[in-house]
Amino acid sequence: MTNLHRLSIRELSEGLQQGKFSSRELTQHYLKRIEKIDAQVKSYVTVTPELALSQANAADAAIKAGNATALAGIPLAHKDIFCTQGVRTSAGSKMLDNFISPYDATVVTKAKAAGLVTLGKVNMDEFAMGSTSESSYYGATKNPWNLDYVPGGSSGGSAAVVAADLAPFATGTDTGGSIRQPASFCGLTGLKPTYGRISRFGIIAFASSLDQAGPMARSAEDCAYLMNVIAGHDAKDSTSVDKEVDDYVANLNATSVKGLRIGIPKQYFNVAGLAADVKARVEESLKKLEDMGAILVEVDLNMVEAYVPTYYLIAPAEASSNLSRYDGVRYGYRCENPVDLMDLYKRSRSEGFGEEVKRRILIGTYALSAGYYDAYYVKAQKVRRLIQQDFLKAFEQVDVIAAPSAPTTAYKIGANLSPTEMYLGDVYTLAVNLAGLPAINAPVGLDDHNLPVGLQLIGNYWSESQLLSIVHQYQQNTDFHTQRAAIAEENA
Ligand code: GLN
Repeated sequence: MTNLHRLSIRELSEGLQQGKFSSRELTQHYLKRIEKIDAQVKSYVTVTPELALSQANAADAAIKAGNATALAGIPLAHKDIFCTQGVRTSAGSKMLDNFISPYDATVVTKAKAAGLVTLGKVNMDEFAMGSTSESSYYGATKNPWNLDYVPGGSSGGSAAVVAADLAPFATGTDTGGSIRQPASFCGLTGLKPTYGRISRFGIIAFASSLDQAGPMARSAEDCAYLMNVIAGHDAKDSTSVDKEVDDYVANLNATSVKGLRIGIPKQYFNVAGLAADVKARVEESLKKLEDMGAILVEVDLNMVEAYVPTYYLIAPAEASSNLSRYDGVRYGYRCENPVDLMDLYKRSRSEGFGEEVKRRILIGTYALSAGYYDAYYVKAQKVRRLIQQDFLKAFEQVDVIAAPSAPTTAYKIGANLSPTEMYLGDVYTLAVNLAGLPAINAPVGLDDHNLPVGLQLIGNYWSESQLLSIVHQYQQNTDFHTQRAAIAEENA
């Protein structure tokens, strides 16, 4: 079989269970593709062939013995922010270039327990700060639709591996859009779950009150399979919530699009930087959902102008605190020949962190310092609550809220946006994290450069099943999610 990389997760599961191919064959197939194609895409930071093949052998044995779980033997790539025992976990930073994690993140443990095969670790913006994946110490990942463009970020590697058919699905994390925006730029489906749905244990922390892991894949159905594996309470993460987990696959048709009330925040569609092509594709997708029986309702979300400033205070504040652990003493990068302890701290951090990370540490430290704490950090937290209340008010009227995932399609590599230009590109995703809500990106067509456009649907708390179900039904009636990136077509 030569086209194993074109199969959906369900087809892979059936093929493996029915013995049409083995996990070893499937894994080798992916490893060969990575070897052949990834020099162009540059999505993997670390490939783990030995680990993958030993997991594949174990999965094949379990399948033969008749005691394998549904996903046993299917390959998966992890964003390089998830700690993986015995494997480098870099978070895209020179600071952690030499860090071999002594333990697995809970998401990784769960993936292993489900029999999934780890292909390797994929590229990302340094410490997940960014929207292009260009800030990685390992260099930029390319967008599989057009190698001159970025795949988005920070989970750009996760998006690129799936779009280039270098992994059937991948894990990502989303602190302010890092699952949804790269999914949008690469024509994928990506789900940012409710804060607390998935354990953060073993995920290198960026902004702890915003970080959340989630699946990135071709379709809502593929995402649902991964959600079934990784969602759930974890005693090792006190912010993970002890709440029953849905069967996301079984629920794929459980929400009726007929009669579904979709909120259209008019303020979102008046954002200055919203590209005409993006607006048009998103509106067409909403028309399609309307044809399928949904009811479009105008809603007010009045805080749009506060999203970027609020997030870009709170996220750096938390980051400056989280990143204080990288001191050159306990683990991570250490400078050469320090003259004293202060020199060791200063130079290890100056040399180990990249520019964007340092910018955030400076902003965050400033906002948290004694004289400015009330004026900036406390103020931002109050605005954060108002943003959340704005959403809850809208959810009294509607079931879900529709928006673009990003105001534009992918940027050119090296476009060198100023920090503020880059931050403004996050306008549609940040508020979801500030409010702790779930949201999904679905591909809804291409712009006039043949780059993908994404529709974002934002749900109320714990509505992951509903979001996946709506997108699943949309995908039963459209074929945008089946369109392949150029490099995937060239290597079909
Ligand atoms: N682009 C946003 C930032 O740089 C979001 C990143 C993320 O979600 N990890 O903070």
